[in-house]
Amino acid sequence: MKDSGTCRLCLASSELRESHIIPASIIRLIRDETLDNRFYQLHNKRNQMIQDGPKEHLLCDDCEQKISGYEKYFKEAIHLSRHGIEIKQNQEFAVIDNLDYRKMKLFFLSLLWRMSISSLPEFENVCVGDSEETIRKMIVTEQAGKSFEYSVSGDIPLMNQKMQEGWSTTPFVSKSRPTVYAILIGGILYYISTTRQNSSLLPELLLNESGRWVMPLRDFYSIPFLREYIDRHFNE
Ligand SMILES: [Zn+2]
Repeated sequence: MKDSGTCRLCLASSELRESHIIPASIIRLIRDETLDNRFYQLHNKRNQMIQDGPKEHLLCDDCEQKISGYEKYFKEAIHLSRHGIEIKQNQEFAVIDNLDYRKMKLFFLSLLWRMSISSLPEFENVCVGDSEETIRKMIVTEQAGKSFEYSVSGDIPLMNQKMQEGWSTTPFVSKSRPTVYAILIGGILYYISTTRQNSSLLPELLLNESGRWVMPLRDFYSIPFLREYIDRHFNE
């Protein structure tokens, strides 16, 4: 489905594509697997399983393709271990090596930006304010910024000692300042900061320029908002 308007990324007048906010490729990946196919959205306190990610007319063809490229890299690197990616794991951490920082960071910047500009109810709790324009320019010029700018960290929540690769959620908002958005995508909980300031986390826990990213393994139930989420889904 197409619609005329101004592309929100390059600002050109164009036919706009119906874009997914959460990458369709991830949802497809999840469905392709012999996993449980559980993609949930939290909306108006009702939980529903959805067939497809939320969509909206936001981008022209060129910009949609640019962002799709980052999504493809994200999916292939994290979930398919392509592009020379090595993932090692012990009892406490997963260590991902050989990541392309720029591509991964631009994926997360574009995700944060799309969630913020979206008018869909699923993302009404995401608003980065003035950073919208800063991040838009970073994406247009393909500048990923430093690791501590709009920093991204990840936890791998385990349920019964297993990562739940079939699970994704809409974003959770931290009550802390500066605001951090947490979103579960393909079983990994990502925290995206909305500030350009230094992060208090250890540098290796951030997606960073070295290409090595360390993600702690944590029990699902030790993460309060996920515990609440699971309780609502499964213990009603
Ligand atoms: Zn565009």
